[in-house]
Amino acid sequence: MNLLIKNGLIVTMDGERRVIKDGAILVRDGRIEEVGKTHKVSKFSAEEVIDARGKAVLPGLINSHTHTHETLLSGVSDCLELYSWSDTVLQPYLKSLRREDCYWVALQACAQMIGSGITCYNDMFGYNSPILDVIIKVIERCGIRGVIGRYIRDAEDPKYASMAISDTLAAIEQCRDKPRIEVRFCPFTVLKCSGETYGKTRELASKYDVGLHTHMAETRKEIQIMEKEKGKGTVEYLDSLDFFGPDVVAAHAIWLKDEEIKILSDKGVKIVHNPSSNMKLASGVIPLRKLIDRGVTVALGTDAAPFSDDWDMFIAMRLATYLQKVHNLDAAASTAEEALELATINGAKALMLEDEIGSLEVGKKADMILIDLKGVGLTPINDIAKKLVFCGTGCYVDASIIDGEIVMENRCLKTVDESELVEKSQTIAEDLIESSGIWKSLEAQGVKRWKVI
Ligand SMILES: [Zn+2]
Repeated sequence: MNLLIKNGLIVTMDGERRVIKDGAILVRDGRIEEVGKTHKVSKFSAEEVIDARGKAVLPGLINSHTHTHETLLSGVSDCLELYSWSDTVLQPYLKSLRREDCYWVALQACAQMIGSGITCYNDMFGYNSPILDVIIKVIERCGIRGVIGRYIRDAEDPKYASMAISDTLAAIEQCRDKPRIEVRFCPFTVLKCSGETYGKTRELASKYDVGLHTHMAETRKEIQIMEKEKGKGTVEYLDSLDFFGPDVVAAHAIWLKDEEIKILSDKGVKIVHNPSSNMKLASGVIPLRKLIDRGVTVALGTDAAPFSDDWDMFIAMRLATYLQKVHNLDAAASTAEEALELATINGAKALMLEDEIGSLEVGKKADMILIDLKGVGLTPINDIAKKLVFCGTGCYVDASIIDGEIVMENRCLKTVDESELVEKSQTIAEDLIESSGIWKSLEAQGVKRWKVI
């Protein structure tokens, strides 16, 4: 199908970061064929035409780190740091989550992501039995682009790691002819995954030519344990296992020594910053400036729903830049333009998809979003990049196009029955929260909530 988007404000995120007023994009067979001024591009004919007058057109946003299995825990947790939260909320939730629920849980996450302008996401799903076949079905149904994987951990039970590796290998096989889905090995974190298993996943990722996705240097407690047990920081330790390479995406990277930043830069490791998660869990502040200045690619993620409570990359962009300003007591420590790079082209680089997505350029896949600029909320537009980062939210995303297919138009999802999804999600969430006893566990931890009468 050919698609012409015309009369829009095109934020290309190309090498020159061109913003084209009264611009147009021609899409043919899922790829961008022309980008330029409307009067030049619109001479080409197209079967479908979108008039983007009063709208900005951006590359689809890339959520480079998340866990869709936790979707139904949005708006539940508060006041707990990572490990208390995991013991109090996540583990009981996972014990109650049934395999048949996972389809709806993942679909809820994907629908929310598409709705807020995310066209590609990097998932580390957690479940106690094979599950990636379900996630593949969800992605095929809703039309999002997914880089998927599942927790691989062996601290509690070595059999879990074998099962998770087999599940990942089966998914790699299943996705060979599915260009919109990539699979990664996901060793969970050094606190839950042995050096042997990290080594095994490295070996398999190289053998099957797929990437790796892990958590790294997220909390001060993690670093204290590593220094005590291994005599090294997490980055030094993973480097000693020869784990690193340009195919590694590591979430967080907060607690780093200067020498470790050099290792990350030398080895081409990609980092994902998750500002909302880091703030809500009081984990710490990423040394963003140092990482970027030393040539490390940093992308942006929402992390799981309990930590950002939404799938809004506009809010993630805003938090990322604000956090650096206040932490460094320097208003110039991070900029709106840099935040937009984190959420688009850097996300593509992190996932090694920069030749395909992340910017609106000829030859790339047509993953793009339209943002309605006409309403009261975003008026006036003085500078588009600053406006979107400092004032935007996912609610202004009007349309979403992935692989040249329109998956959301006029804020309505075209691939998902929203009323059915809302009903299912609410029912499953109520059962899950009730049967897992999360409210009582939170209360026992001193987390208060108001009574509903
Ligand atoms: Zn995470």
